[in-house]
Amino acid sequence: MSDVRQHADDIHEQFSDHIDVSVEDVEERLTTLVDEYKVPIDEARRSVTNHYLEEAGLEREDISGGDSEAANIEDVDEPEEWIDLTAKVIELWDPRSDSVAQVGLLGDPTGTIKFTKWAKSELPALEEGGVYELRNVVTDEYQGRYSVKLNSTTVIEELDEDLEVGNDTSEIEGALVDMQSGSGLIKRCPEDDCTRVLQNGRCNEHGEVEGEFDLRIKAVVDDGIDAHEVIFDKDATEELTGLSLEEAKEMAMDALDTTIVADEISEDIVGTYYRIEGPTFGRYVLADDVEELGGPADPEELLIKARSM
Ligand SMILES: [Zn+2]
Repeated sequence: MSDVRQHADDIHEQFSDHIDVSVEDVEERLTTLVDEYKVPIDEARRSVTNHYLEEAGLEREDISGGDSEAANIEDVDEPEEWIDLTAKVIELWDPRSDSVAQVGLLGDPTGTIKFTKWAKSELPALEEGGVYELRNVVTDEYQGRYSVKLNSTTVIEELDEDLEVGNDTSEIEGALVDMQSGSGLIKRCPEDDCTRVLQNGRCNEHGEVEGEFDLRIKAVVDDGIDAHEVIFDKDATEELTGLSLEEAKEMAMDALDTTIVADEISEDIVGTYYRIEGPTFGRYVLADDVEELGGPADPEELLIKARSM
C-alpha cells in the first residue's frame, strides 16, 4: 500500500462515522497536495484532516488519532497520543467550565494523571473509586504536566475489580546545580484558579492584573546520572532557605528590586547536596520533603557537568 493510501485509510477511518466520504476522495485530496503542490505528506494529512473536521463540524478532540495503544500512566510523556488506560478514579474535582462534564485524578499501579471529560462527548459519568477501562483517550500537556482527555470517541467500560494505585513519588539525592529563571519572589495572577506567573505584570490569560506575591524555586538537581528539574513551592522554599515570604517582600522593598531575592537564594542553595522527595508531574518533581546532606560541593564543576549532559 502506498504511503498516501495508508494515510487516506487512516483519515477515512476517523471520519467514516461522521460524514459520507470515500477513501478515494480522501486519497485524491492528499495526492493533489503532495503531487501538485509539493506539500510534505504530514502537512497534507493535517490539511486534509482539517478540511473534513470543518465539513463534519467537529473539533480535533472529537476524532480518534487512529489506533490507540494500551499504556501505563507513567509512560505518558507526549501530547496528542491516543492511548487506552485501565485506571481508578481517585478524585473528582469541580469543573470550572461548562464545556467540561467531569475533571479529576486517575491512578494506575504506575502513577496518577489528571483527566478531563468534555461535556459534548456525552459519555457516562465516572464514579469516584470506580475502576474503568478507558479506550481511546488523548494525552495533553500544559506547562510540563500531562493529562488525558476523554472525548466522543472514547469507550468507557466499568470493571468489577479494584486496582492498586501506585505511588509516583520520586526520591532524588544529589547536588542542586542550577536555579532557573522564574525563581525567587514572583507574582501570580489573582484570578480564580489561574495562578499563572506574571511576566512584567501581565498574565498570559487575563492581561494586566494586580499580582499576588509568591515564593518559588525552579532548580536543577544532579544525582550523578540524570539532571532533574525540581520545583519548590512557597512552603518548600521557606523551609529550604529559611526565608519567609514576608522577609522576601521586605528584602525586595528595601532594594527596590525583586531579583535580589533570587540572588540571595541562589547563593545559599546552589552547590548544596539535598535529598528531595515528592510527586512527579511531567518533567518536574515537586519537592515535598527536603533534607540537606553533607557532601562535596564544587558548584562550578557540577554546573559544567550538568550542562554537558
Ligand atoms: Zn490569569
